[in-house]
Amino acid sequence: MLPGVVQQARWTRWAFVPVGVAAAWALARLATPAAAPPPPATPEPPRAPPLASASALGPVALPPPVFLPSDDAEPRIAATAPMILRFSRPLRAGELTVSVKPAVELRLERPPDGTLRVSGVPRWKMGRRYVLSVEGASVPPQAFRTSVPPPTRVTPGEGQRFVFSFDDAPRRLRQADRLLSLLSALKIKALLFPTGTWVKQRHDWVEQAKAQGHRVCNHSLSHLNLTLPRYTEEQVRREIVEGATDGDCRYFRPPLMAYDARVARLVEEAGLELMLWDVDSRDWEGAPAEDLVHLVLGQARPGAVALFHVHGEHTFEALPLLAERLRAAGYVLSWDPSDATSDAGADAAPLPRERWRRLLQVPLEEPPPDHEAAAREGARELL
Ligand SMILES: [Zn+2]
Repeated sequence: MLPGVVQQARWTRWAFVPVGVAAAWALARLATPAAAPPPPATPEPPRAPPLASASALGPVALPPPVFLPSDDAEPRIAATAPMILRFSRPLRAGELTVSVKPAVELRLERPPDGTLRVSGVPRWKMGRRYVLSVEGASVPPQAFRTSVPPPTRVTPGEGQRFVFSFDDAPRRLRQADRLLSLLSALKIKALLFPTGTWVKQRHDWVEQAKAQGHRVCNHSLSHLNLTLPRYTEEQVRREIVEGATDGDCRYFRPPLMAYDARVARLVEEAGLELMLWDVDSRDWEGAPAEDLVHLVLGQARPGAVALFHVHGEHTFEALPLLAERLRAAGYVLSWDPSDATSDAGADAAPLPRERWRRLLQVPLEEPPPDHEAAAREGARELL
């Protein structure tokens, strides 16, 4: 299906959302015909009485949402757009209390047209679902979600790739088998970074992954923070040298993204190449699949390497839709340049290692890595 058709269909359906909201509001008014009393004669108590009604304005003036993976009817707004509530009369200062969950700093505007414009500061987080509550008026909580830009489109057949990579290994061994099944069904060739310790239990998995066209690469032996001062050079070297490999892959991805000059040197001495990522799905945080889809698509660009985790709670759920949308945008979903070549002829570019090298220009000497933060992250990252 062409992405343009998808967008148009989404847009068409979207146009009905404000109508639905308005209809619900009208029904609510019908059910409570006496719900709009005249304002009291005296200003006591100091706070004005609750407003009779309010309706949420859908984002009809905003660009149409794209890449909506679900059929829910929640409004979607751009990260920089305000959520707008229209009231039956102009608002007075301090009349209402507005809160949003998850909590974010808010900017409130009360133009004289009776609307209340609520914006996140500096902006809403992309792809996040929020619930806005208003105290002081009969407004039901308003759930909405922020949209993210669509992935950068590439020209199908020009061999521009988007590389999926999966770190770590789950406690449940079968989870890793499920990943291979899913990647096979979706025809994705991925970079896989299990630990050396895990692979010792699953040589068969490495063989199967390789047979399916994936690369099994080095994520250290036991997933330590290799920048901690307490580890000797020999310990760090062993962690690097005894990491997983399929015999071909020479990429090393440091656990917890923790590397310093010593790690970089030992990686090079081992004949390996540091490999990070361009797009972090943040799937280990447990966000719903829809959020993962939004985050990843919003950052997708030609040659990008995206980070996922085998143990991500909703990762597998997000993969089919990601594959569909990325292919629709023209990407080849493989680490392997020859796959792109078969699409594009002789001129497919190799993996953009130069860019990864530039990524590695971040300070290797100073300042020292934030061990505390890395340790906290490590505590959240399951093995
Ligand atoms: Zn890891």
